Amino acid sequence: MSIAICPGSFDPITLGHLNIIRRTSRIFDSVVVCVMHNAAKSSPWFTPEERLEMVKTATSRYPNVRVDMQNMLLAEYAKQFDHPVIVKGLRAASDFEYEFQMNLINKNINPDLETMFLTADGKYTFLSSSVVREMAHYGADITGLVPSELIQLIENKAKQWRK
Ligand code: ADP
Repeated sequence: MSIAICPGSFDPITLGHLNIIRRTSRIFDSVVVCVMHNAAKSSPWFTPEERLEMVKTATSRYPNVRVDMQNMLLAEYAKQFDHPVIVKGLRAASDFEYEFQMNLINKNINPDLETMFLTADGKYTFLSSSVVREMAHYGADITGLVPSELIQLIENKAKQWRK
C-alpha cells in the first residue's frame, strides 16, 4: 500500500494546501497530513490542536486522508511507516531552494525517505498561510483562500489578535 505524508504548519490551512492534499490522495492509497508544531516559526496564530482540528474539518470528505500532529523531526516521524513518500507543494523558486535543502537533511537522517513535489495550481501560487493571516488581520475578505467552513473561525482569531 502506497503512503504519502503531507507535512506543514497549516497556520491556517489554505486552499493551496488542500489542493496538494487532494491531488496527493488521488495518487497514493493513503495520505497522512502531519501538522508540525514547527518551533522554527516563532508566533503561530493557532495552537497545534486548533490547526489539527482545522485540517481534520477541511479534509473530512477525503476517505483515504487522515490527520496527525507531530513535534519531532519529519525524517524521524516517517520511520514508523513502510516506505512513505513526503509530498510537498512547490510555489516558486524560493520554495525549491528551501525544499532542496530540507530534502538533503531528511536523507541524511533517513536515507530511504523520498520526497516528491507537486507544482502549485496556478490559482494558488501566491497563496500562503501568512498571506491569509495578513489579510484577516486587516479585515480583508478571505473567501476563496481558505476552506469556507473555516472562514468564521479564522476571522474570530484575527479579532482576538487585534485586541
Ligand atoms: P506555508 O509555506 O504557507 O507557511 P506550510 O509550512 O504549512 O505553509 O506549508 C506546507 C507545505 O504546503 C509546503 O510544502 C508548501 O510548499 C506547501 N504549500 C503551501 N501553500 C501552498 C500553495 N498555495 N500551493 C501549493 N503548495 C503550498
